[in-house]
Amino acid sequence: MVNACPAADPVFRINQGGYAAGLPVHIAVLKKGPVSLLDTAGRLSGIFDAVPVPDEASGDSVALINLGTLPEGNWLLHSGQAERAFTVSPHPWQKTCGALVKGLYYQRCGCALLPEHAGLYTHAACHTAPAIDWEDRSVRRAVTGGWHDAGDYGKYTGPGAVTAAHLLYAWKLFPDGCPDKLDLPETGNGLPDILNEARYELDWLLKMQRDDGAFHHKLAKAAFAPFIMPEDDKGQEYLMPVSSCATGAACACLALASRVYRPFLPSFANRLLLAALRAWAWLAAHPDFLPFRNPEGVRTGQYSDRSDRDERFWAACELFASTNEDRFRQAAETLYMEGHDLTQFGWASVAGFGAICCLFDMKEKAGETLCSALKQDFLAQSGQALAAARRSGYGTALSPDRYIWGSILPIMSGAMAMILNALITGRQDMRDAALDQWHYALGMNALDTCFITGIGEKPILHPHHRPSGADGIDAPVPGLISGGPNKAFPYPATREMLGDAVPPAKYFRDETPSADTNEIAIYWNSPAVFVSAYFNTF
Ligand SMILES: [Zn+2]
Repeated sequence: MVNACPAADPVFRINQGGYAAGLPVHIAVLKKGPVSLLDTAGRLSGIFDAVPVPDEASGDSVALINLGTLPEGNWLLHSGQAERAFTVSPHPWQKTCGALVKGLYYQRCGCALLPEHAGLYTHAACHTAPAIDWEDRSVRRAVTGGWHDAGDYGKYTGPGAVTAAHLLYAWKLFPDGCPDKLDLPETGNGLPDILNEARYELDWLLKMQRDDGAFHHKLAKAAFAPFIMPEDDKGQEYLMPVSSCATGAACACLALASRVYRPFLPSFANRLLLAALRAWAWLAAHPDFLPFRNPEGVRTGQYSDRSDRDERFWAACELFASTNEDRFRQAAETLYMEGHDLTQFGWASVAGFGAICCLFDMKEKAGETLCSALKQDFLAQSGQALAAARRSGYGTALSPDRYIWGSILPIMSGAMAMILNALITGRQDMRDAALDQWHYALGMNALDTCFITGIGEKPILHPHHRPSGADGIDAPVPGLISGGPNKAFPYPATREMLGDAVPPAKYFRDETPSADTNEIAIYWNSPAVFVSAYFNTF
């Protein structure tokens, strides 16, 4: 067994992945008084006064200190007897961003992971048997491929579409910040590796479409597998019923992908766009919300949603951007006017992707409503993320009552919203507040924990992830981000262990059984790819 994570530092919380030479260095300090900063040669470079303030989410008293931009080198912080080292270098997070994309490679289903690409973390091809249609057991189809969704081996259309969209927009907005040469099986084929990895999911998404254009909600077994390797999970997989949310998200993602891949693979781009148009035709013919509920006897992930209006809005935006057909602009405008949270980039709430499409792809072409009005709406809503960050001692853009299952998602969504705001307005305060969310993920948090496996001095060691638990290798599969603290919906075992008094930002167990606080998921990796790709451009 891997040893438990070292105890939290009593004074300093830092980005354990280092800091960028071109960006301000923020640290969190839990002790009142002077903090000395020493350079590589041990010379005093500055003294900063830490004045901690109460942080409601963690119960800590914490001072968030801006050390300014620092030259490349090794640095040391001192406060009384406590000290902590950190490094500053150009583009320090390229490795982490690459690890997060490679983390998705390790989630690939339907193929063997070979040592030349996967290092120690190999396995034989998994889930290669034909799937059975749950509603018509006479139908058997080969639906291999895609990424295992999370700690389990299910594959879910909406979450997969959202994950690919994070990667595709990271590439569209920050091509220079995206990682490449990741030792994928496709590396060197002329496509950037971030697009190679996204394509693995897109190929699978295309297979999830039914003949009438709708998308199956998920491909999964009736029950979760035990903690075994994927190739040992031999139970029957089913194509579960279609849903309007899955169809809307897939439609949007495939339309977006058609623009991204067109310069590289025009015939693939055409396939993607045709699939998106068929999905839209189904959505238009089925205007009512068709939710998904697990059929009786099915206990795998449900990913139920309360509305499909945001998926339809996103799909209309992407189809207009891809076709220039006014019917899609009109549909997007009508759906936008219903009101959406444009700062959400998660599997349930996807209107933020529609906003990116309008603000950065269509721009003036979108017309007054989807350009100017939407922009004002977006700027106001993203301002709320900054306000939340300002209320937090650690600068974390999450109110104490929102430490939900997968709290890393709203935190990364907040970072995305503030990054987009900074791109539109040029505001450095937005950029720097977004940066604090990245610092949170890599250790500047109440737990002194890097939430990404294999990164930093104190990364999580026991994620809820079947291959990591079953492969016999001490260290977990690298490049996977944990959902993080969750006091809103903890397991009874977590509540029993932690009690009610532990504050939300510390409601976390780095233990394999704790899916409620320490599961990994593809759609938590992917917004972190977007965020780090942006900061790699500095
Ligand atoms: Zn598999």
